[in-house]
Amino acid sequence: MTAADFRDQVIYLDLDNTLINRGAAFGSWVEHFCLEHQLSEQARTWWLDEDRDGYRNRLDLAQAATEQWGLTSTPEVLALAMQRGLVDHLVLEPGVEDGLQALRAAGFLLAIVTNGGAQQQRAKVRKLGLDHLVDAVAISGEVGVAKPDREIFVHAAALLNRDLGTGWMVGDSLVHDIKGGRRAGLRTIWVSGGRTQSEVADAGRPDLVVNRGADALSVLLHGLGTSDNSAP
Ligand SMILES: [Mg+2]
Repeated sequence: MTAADFRDQVIYLDLDNTLINRGAAFGSWVEHFCLEHQLSEQARTWWLDEDRDGYRNRLDLAQAATEQWGLTSTPEVLALAMQRGLVDHLVLEPGVEDGLQALRAAGFLLAIVTNGGAQQQRAKVRKLGLDHLVDAVAISGEVGVAKPDREIFVHAAALLNRDLGTGWMVGDSLVHDIKGGRRAGLRTIWVSGGRTQSEVADAGRPDLVVNRGADALSVLLHGLGTSDNSAP
């Protein structure tokens, strides 16, 4: 299959740990915070574990951290510092900016579909200039429905004046992105980050597996025939 076969289709893209390395940004903030507050290496490890890749409620994590490490700030203040600090430390994954630009130039429509709070996800998108690199941004906190629900994809398509037809979903979460994409009738690319497919069973198999988000953009641009990462 070549790029021409699916040009003019919509590519739906997850944000955290797909286009941006959210884990690295959070780790960088934690390191900075622990140094500033003279907290141990143990505290740093604890913080990263307890974050659960961003799926832990932020205020809940801040509450636990203030108790665990005897911090003087209130959980509310710490939660806000975490939120802002994460955005400050964000960078695009290497190759993502070029990949998005090339896909648009080739005629694809691009929509970010992300779960999370409206304010925080908008701040991430703006900070990295992603609003200028894609055609639509659908955030669960704004839409009122989250991946893997099909409706958030319907909403994203509507932002592009489209019905939800054929297209691709690219993301790192088997539950939210791959299961959600499949439910929406999309083909899916799992950004594995090196994880194995033993985790895939419940989500259903993605059509393709790549290591990084930029790899998925490259595969979509150059055609599926170039990939040697196809799911078995
Ligand atoms: Mg993600």
